[in-house]
Amino acid sequence: MNYRELSIDELHELLVSKKVTPLDLAKEAIALAKADTNNAFEYIMEKEALEAAEALGEPEANNPLWGIPFVIKDNFSTKGVPTTGSSNILKGYVPVFDATVVEKLKAAKAIAIGKTTLDELAMGGSGITGHLGRTYNPWDRSHSRIVGGSSCGSAAATSDGFVPFALGSDTGDSTRKPASHAGLIGFKPTWSRISRFGLFPFAPSLDTVGIFSRNVKDCAYVLNALAGRDEKDSTSSTKPVEDYAKDIEKENKNYKIAVIKEIEDSISNNVVKDAFKKSVEDLKKAGYQVDYVHVSNELLLTLFPTYFVISCAEATSNNANMDGIKFGPLSEGKTFEEVMLNARTKGFGELIKRRFVIGSFALMKENQNELFVRAQKNRRRIVDAINDILREYNFIYLPAAPGIAPKFDDASDKLSDEYLIADNHLCIANFAGLPSLTLPIGFEDGMPFGANITGRAFEDKDVLKISYEIEKLTGLKNLVAKGGQK
Ligand code: GLN
Repeated sequence: MNYRELSIDELHELLVSKKVTPLDLAKEAIALAKADTNNAFEYIMEKEALEAAEALGEPEANNPLWGIPFVIKDNFSTKGVPTTGSSNILKGYVPVFDATVVEKLKAAKAIAIGKTTLDELAMGGSGITGHLGRTYNPWDRSHSRIVGGSSCGSAAATSDGFVPFALGSDTGDSTRKPASHAGLIGFKPTWSRISRFGLFPFAPSLDTVGIFSRNVKDCAYVLNALAGRDEKDSTSSTKPVEDYAKDIEKENKNYKIAVIKEIEDSISNNVVKDAFKKSVEDLKKAGYQVDYVHVSNELLLTLFPTYFVISCAEATSNNANMDGIKFGPLSEGKTFEEVMLNARTKGFGELIKRRFVIGSFALMKENQNELFVRAQKNRRRIVDAINDILREYNFIYLPAAPGIAPKFDDASDKLSDEYLIADNHLCIANFAGLPSLTLPIGFEDGMPFGANITGRAFEDKDVLKISYEIEKLTGLKNLVAKGGQK
C-alpha cells in the first residue's frame, strides 16, 4: 500500500474492510514523521497516537474520519501535549485542555500524530521565523524553497504524504498561501463557523481555523467534523451547519464567478497567469458565467498596510498575557516590569517584536485616529467593495499567489506594487469573514501553484462545490511531493 498518496475515502475503505487498521496507519504516519527532513514537527505524539489507535474498536462505516491520521499546528492547545506556538516564550507550556477542534477530531476518532511548526505565534508568511528555524518545501528536495507560512509544518506534512489532512490557522492567508506553494487544498471557512476555543489568538477579528487536505472532498469531511456552535467560544455562530460533503459532486451551472482584473494584471509571471486564464476558459466551457470585474488599484494598494495595522494592533493586545508570569518562563527581575521585560526580550523573536512595536504605536492614544481607526475605516471600504461584487456573483476567483514558492533568499517582503497586491489579496477574505479556498492549478519547474476561490459568508458549501468542479477540470488532486521517504 502506498499510504502517502491515498485520500480519506480510499483510506476509509481500507479501514472499514479491515485491510488495514488504525494502528497500521498511525505507525506508518509516525515513521514518516520521524524521518521528516522538512522541519515540520514541534512534537511527535507517538505514545498518544498509538494508544488512541489501539483503543478504537470496530470500524465505523459512516464516519469517514475514523482512524485517519492528522497533524495539528502548534498554536492549538492540546491537553497534556507541549504547545509552543513555535515561540521560546512558551517553551515547556503544557495545556490542561484541548482546543475544541482537537476535541472534535478526537471525538470523530481521527488520530493526532503530532504538533507542527509555524511562524512564531502565527505571525509571518515564510515558515522561517519559528524558534526551530526554517521549514522546507517538500516539493524541492534541495531545501532551497519556503513552503510558506505561517502554517508551514502542517503544509509540509500534508504535502509530503505523512497525513491526508491537517489543522492550520488563517489570519491573513496562513493556510491558503502555503497551500498554493505545496500543491494542497487550503481552506479558511466563514469567520465564526468553526470554534476558535483553544487556538492562540493572533488577531481575533480576522482569525479562523484552517484546513489542509489533498482533495476538496476530504476538506468537506473535515469541515463536517469541525463546524458548529461552541458554548466555549462566544464568537462561534449559532447558524445551523450543513453536510458539506453531501452532493458535493452535483453541479450547479447557475453559479456566477467574478475575476478581479486588477489583481490578475498585477501578476508578472506568465506561467501562473496563463494557467489561471486557462482555468477561467475551462470554467466557461463547462457552462459557468465568468466575468472580469474591477476594483481600483488605489484601494488594492491599501490591503497590506490595512492588514498590517489591524493585525499588529490586535496581536499586541492579545499577546500581552505572555509576560513571564501568566504565561512563559519566569525571568529575573525585582519588579513586575523587569520580569516582563526580561521574559519578552528573551522569549520573542525579532520579527514579532517589530510587530508589537508597530501594534503599540498604532494603538497609542495620540496615534489611534491616524492609524488604527483609519485602518478600520479602510477595512470597511474594502469589505464594501467586495460585497458589492458578491451581491451579483457567487464567487471571486483569482490566482492565489504571484508565483511558485520563493527561494529562501528571495522571500523578502519587498514593497513593490506586485507584492502589495498579488501577494496580499488573500487577506480580503479575512477582512470580510468570507469562506475562501486555495487549490492547485499548475506547475512551474516542478513546483505547484494554486488559485483561490472566495464566496459569500456562510456559503461554505458552495465554495466547496465550485472547488470540486475546478478540481475536476484541472485533474490536480491527491498531489504528493515527489522524492519523499517512500
Ligand atoms: N502572512 C500573514 C502575516 O504575516 C498572515 C499570517 C496568518 O494568516 N496567520 O501576518
